[in-house]
Amino acid sequence: MAEAALNAMARQLVDLTLCKTRYDAWDLQWYTQGPFWRRTNMRYSREYKIIPDYEIGDAKHGKTLENILDESEVLGQNLEQYKKTAKSEEMQRVDYLIDHVKNLNIRTRLLLGETFSFDEMTEGLYCLRAPACDYRKFDRILEKMNQALPGGGTVQEKISTFRRTLAIPPENLLKVIRESTQVFHEIAGARMDVTGNSMPRVRVRELPNKDMVFLSILFGYDYNHIEYERNFNLLYPWTVDKVMEYVGHEMEPGHLTYFEKRLQTMIDTCWPEMSIVSQFSTSNAFGEGSARHAISMSFDNSMEKQVEFEKEIIFKNAGIDEKYAELMPLWHEYCELEGYGKLEVSRGRWDHALSREEGARFLEQYGFAEPGTGIESVDHLAEDDGHFVAHDYSRDVVRDYFNTVAPDVEQQWKLYERICCAHVTMKGIREKVIY
Ligand SMILES: [Zn+2]
Repeated sequence: MAEAALNAMARQLVDLTLCKTRYDAWDLQWYTQGPFWRRTNMRYSREYKIIPDYEIGDAKHGKTLENILDESEVLGQNLEQYKKTAKSEEMQRVDYLIDHVKNLNIRTRLLLGETFSFDEMTEGLYCLRAPACDYRKFDRILEKMNQALPGGGTVQEKISTFRRTLAIPPENLLKVIRESTQVFHEIAGARMDVTGNSMPRVRVRELPNKDMVFLSILFGYDYNHIEYERNFNLLYPWTVDKVMEYVGHEMEPGHLTYFEKRLQTMIDTCWPEMSIVSQFSTSNAFGEGSARHAISMSFDNSMEKQVEFEKEIIFKNAGIDEKYAELMPLWHEYCELEGYGKLEVSRGRWDHALSREEGARFLEQYGFAEPGTGIESVDHLAEDDGHFVAHDYSRDVVRDYFNTVAPDVEQQWKLYERICCAHVTMKGIREKVIY
């Protein structure tokens, strides 16, 4: 009886989320509509991102944003009411549903034009609030880069030149992506209980503009298999670090593995909430943060081993001089700070504390945007304001969680696999709950 009641409330959360996609096209990252699904026609465009445009048809229609808002409030109250007499073993699930209904509620209010501070917004969507930033860390990394990077000129010029050194020539991109995908696929299979049938087909092609990184097409799934195609954009400025991010993070053992685990959990339990991964939600903030930490786990949390992989698989296939591999640990440190720099610009812009020009100047000053592209970069950040909280800050919260509760990397893998199937929230991760 209790499970049926919770299932009904979870079903309502899923329905509201599907309805909301009509006004919020990028929210749905994954959706399991049944035990299996096949794309049955080829009537789609290869010019835009196909996922998450499943054939959800009527599920999107019939509700205004006001309807969704009202229903989410009633649903939240019902869940709170339920929680008062819930059994202890149901608590994680009830809290998960409550947090996700809150995420949906805040996202709906944002879409209706309500204003929130940046921290309220990220708390509302992801249950995360990035702490105040110590800006001295940006000066320190700049100094380090100035000392370590080769070449002459200003430090911004050295960063620019080094970024170009790490560029993957388009003619070598396919080989680089294919071989890295294969290695990450093997690592995921060796470290986790995954079927091994879900390696994506990877291709490269020119997409309509250089800002699109890739285009994904889902062809189908069943319990043991996700049929997924990923087209990487030849026009995107690929560098070694971007390959690491978009192969390990976006596919296996990152998002694609998370989707596979969710799909199986949905089939094993019939819990409606396991059928969706919604971008603006606390469980997806875990998905984003853990997909980044999983890259580190893939190399036993050893930067030395990671750089060895980068050298063997990426540098060699890309034709980049291997002597620069020794600068990769510093470069990764710099990229992590770049994420935080962009987080601060997003926060400053959102809270009206920074003008567009000030944001642009800051990004260019620290080399986080190429000279002359600061404004373009600031505008790009505004397309997904909470991105760096849900990714970069989340990665650090997740990393701290894993390093605290699981002493060695073998246990981290087991834990990661378990959490992918669990009622995970960032509140639970912060409070070091064992899933
Ligand atoms: Zn991601």
